[in-house]
Amino acid sequence: MSNTRVAVVGAGISGLTTAYRLRTLLGPAAEIMLIEGSRRLGGALRTVELGGVALDVGAEAFLVRRPEALSLIEELGLGEQLRYPTSAAPTVRAVGRTMPLPIRTMLGLPGAAADVAGLLSAQGAARVAAEPTMPLRWEAGRDAAVGLLLRERAGDELVDRLVDPLLGGVYAGRADALGLRATLPAVATALDRGAGSLLAAASVALTAGRRPTGGGPVFGTLSGGFEGLVDALVAGAAVCARLGRPVRGLARTPHGWRLQLGLTSEAEHLDADAVVLAVPAPALRRLLADPLPAASAAAGRVEVASSAVVGLALPRAAAQALPESSGVLVAASELLSVKAFTFSGRKWAHARSAQVVLVRASMGRHGEARVLQRDDAELVDAVRADLAALTGITATPVATVVARWGGGLPQYAPGHLDAVAALEREIAGSTGLAVAGATLHGVGLPACIGTADTAARRIVGYLNDRRAANAVRGGVEVPGGTMGP
Ligand SMILES: Cc1cc2nc3c(=O)[nH]c(=O)nc-3n(C[C@H](O)[C@H](O)[C@H](O)COP(=O)(O)OP(=O)(O)OC[C@H]3O[C@@H](n4cnc5c(N)ncnc54)[C@H](O)[C@@H]3O)c2cc1C
Repeated sequence: MSNTRVAVVGAGISGLTTAYRLRTLLGPAAEIMLIEGSRRLGGALRTVELGGVALDVGAEAFLVRRPEALSLIEELGLGEQLRYPTSAAPTVRAVGRTMPLPIRTMLGLPGAAADVAGLLSAQGAARVAAEPTMPLRWEAGRDAAVGLLLRERAGDELVDRLVDPLLGGVYAGRADALGLRATLPAVATALDRGAGSLLAAASVALTAGRRPTGGGPVFGTLSGGFEGLVDALVAGAAVCARLGRPVRGLARTPHGWRLQLGLTSEAEHLDADAVVLAVPAPALRRLLADPLPAASAAAGRVEVASSAVVGLALPRAAAQALPESSGVLVAASELLSVKAFTFSGRKWAHARSAQVVLVRASMGRHGEARVLQRDDAELVDAVRADLAALTGITATPVATVVARWGGGLPQYAPGHLDAVAALEREIAGSTGLAVAGATLHGVGLPACIGTADTAARRIVGYLNDRRAANAVRGGVEVPGGTMGP
């Protein structure tokens, strides 16, 4: 399709996949502009070399149960780089003990009390076991804060020792503030359909989610890190990428959209036939404020959490003291700075090295910004202190890295799906505009890729319709816009 210009704003996985899919659908002649506010591509995907080993310091794995990431990786010819975790199992740290992480749960919510009993006190286990006997008043379509609902019905221990650490790992959020319907959709659906308790709903969801083939890996990654995916998407999209150019304004024009880029002092305008916004919720809110105030208000309902990842390359000898597990989630009550350690060399065979052993620490939960308000050296010190407390390892790292993710993860609060539905409704009524990204239907990479694919197809549908309508009217196309006679 010639003489067509589409602007994609934001170059995280969502924007990159949108640009790539637009290219495959529109062909080589379309002009696809990728505009990124920071000076690098990839957003929350970033790979560094630490101690000679590739380490992802943003997202480090994707769920293989959903098809989107796997099929994109195959489509891009990266299938040979696919890697799956070793058999090392995860653990959780609570009440001063490190314990195996129960496997058969939905983000910590078990289908049967026995599945989590090993983690709880006798009273805590009894509370969970009693949950199915409590009357449940659930109206179909209702939403609730996961932690609050569970505390009321199954006691605090299950939340504090398991559900909160797991949700903290995925969303950098707290169980008491995250909504059931967006974080545990299959459980909410089972409740809507009449499951009589939370455990019964989890049991239904776990059974439905079980793969017919049984086991198989849950997560996958790429041997060289996710920057290989970024590079492949950029190459496949054949885009003109503008880095360090935050989009400040968006306005409708008679022929499409006008974007204002860069700092106000050196503002630049770019006209496009269509625009895809693949930016986090606060940027969505700002950019939509003028052209679509109701969509902007909906985006404004989504808060974001900041986090940091600290990588340590420890001398190889430290491996002797490193637990055999793939890592440890840390309950907030432990009062450590770190919320999770991944023992990367234990979790991923390809991350092993004869010289170093890699450890990756995550820090930061929503509403607890203070943990991150330290300089990089202080964060590394805090991580080392926590590692020593949990494993006894005090070895000086041979290399370290600190990656900060300001506002990197949206918080799916109760009512999140309503906010997203309102946002998408408003966008749907606006021609030549689409949104993609972690704000919408899941923070994981497959979900982001899914929104990108949908956004690209929506834009192509719009351009095709417009072209057809113009052909009927005998219109002519001009670069950056299409004009009727
Ligand atoms: C530390 C961390 C670990 C994670 N681990 C995993 C994991 O293991 N597995 C998993 O599946 N998911 C993980 N996630 C979640 C997943 O990585 C993200 O949800 C996903 O990468 C988000 O992609 P995105 O493109 O929607 O947004 P982003 O990656 O946030 O990209 C948005 C881009 O928009 C740019 N931008 C913002 N405003 C503007 C503007 N006004 N103009 C132009 N550009 C703008 C930003 O600079 C950014 O590059 C993790 C997230 C974080 C932060």
